[in-house]
Amino acid sequence: MAGELRQNLNRYGIRAKKGLGQNFLADPNYVARIIDAADLSAGDVVVEIGPGPATLTGDLARAVGPSGKVIAVEVDESLRPLLSDLCRDHPQVDILWQDALKVDYDAVTQPWRGDKPFVLVANLPYYITTPILMRLLEGGFAVSRLVVMVQKEVADRMLAPAGHSDYGALSVAIQYRCAPTLVTKVPPGAFIPPPKVSSAVVRLDRRTSPPVDVTDEAAFFRVVRAAFNQRRKTLLNALGALGVPLTKEEMATRLTTAGIDTGRRGETLNLEEFAKAADALYREAS
Ligand code: SAM
Repeated sequence: MAGELRQNLNRYGIRAKKGLGQNFLADPNYVARIIDAADLSAGDVVVEIGPGPATLTGDLARAVGPSGKVIAVEVDESLRPLLSDLCRDHPQVDILWQDALKVDYDAVTQPWRGDKPFVLVANLPYYITTPILMRLLEGGFAVSRLVVMVQKEVADRMLAPAGHSDYGALSVAIQYRCAPTLVTKVPPGAFIPPPKVSSAVVRLDRRTSPPVDVTDEAAFFRVVRAAFNQRRKTLLNALGALGVPLTKEEMATRLTTAGIDTGRRGETLNLEEFAKAADALYREAS
C-alpha cells in the first residue's frame, strides 16, 4: 500500500502539505483497524473528514455497500484529479470540497440517512483536531460514533481519568458527551510523510444522555474551565475566577455542603463532582 500511495502521489504530482496536516496513512493494517472500529453495515451513512489520497475512502465505500453513502469533506482542491479518479469506482462516494469546520453535517447527510444518525471516520488534520471534534459534538449533529486518528497526546487527554496528569478540560468535554475507547496506537512510520509525533485511533460512542446530572450545562463547563485554567491552585482559589456573586466564604460553604473539599485541586474532580460544584455555585441562594 505504501508503494501504491507513493505511486499515486507521484503520478498526480502531489506533495504533502504540512500546513494542512497531510500525513497520509500508508500501512494497511491500521486502515483495517480503523474500518473495523467504525463497525459499519450496509446502508450506513459515513462522513469522512480529509480523505486526502483516498486512503480510507474506498474501504469505507465497500463497508457501507452500494446502498450506503460516504460523504468525504476535503479542503485541498489540488487533490481533485487524484481523488476523483480513485473514487470513480465507488458511486456512493460524494466529495465535498469544503472546510470541515464550516460544514453543516446534518444537512449534507440528511438526504441519505433520513432520521438515522451518521458515523464519522477521519484521520484528522492535527492542526484543527479539537475545534473539529468540539464542533461535531457540540453542534447538535446526528452523529452516533466517531472513529478518529489524533495525536497520541490528544488521545491520552481524551481518555484520562480524574486525577491523572493528562486529565483536563478536553477529557471532561469528551467523556461528558461520549464513551471513549482506544482502538490502537499508531507509530510515525505508518504515514507518508511520517509526522513528528505518535498517533492513536480513538472511538467515541456518543452518549444519548449525559453520564451525570447537570442542571446548567454552560455553568458546568464554566466551572470545568476555571478549575483547569489554574491547575496549581486549590479548587476554591481557582473557582474565584468565575466571578459568581458570592463571597469566598459563601462559595466554600456551598461546596463543602455539596460534599466537595475546597482544598482539593480542580484536576482531581470527576464529572459528578464538577456537576455538584456547578450546581452548588450557580443555584439561587436558598
Ligand atoms: N485520509 C487520508 C489518510 O488517512 O491518509 C488523509 C489524512 S491527512 C492526516 C488529513 C487530511 O485532511 C488531508 O487530506 C488534508 O488536506 C485534509 N484537511 C486539512 N484541513 C482540512 C479542513 N479544514 N477541512 C477538510 N479537510 C481538511
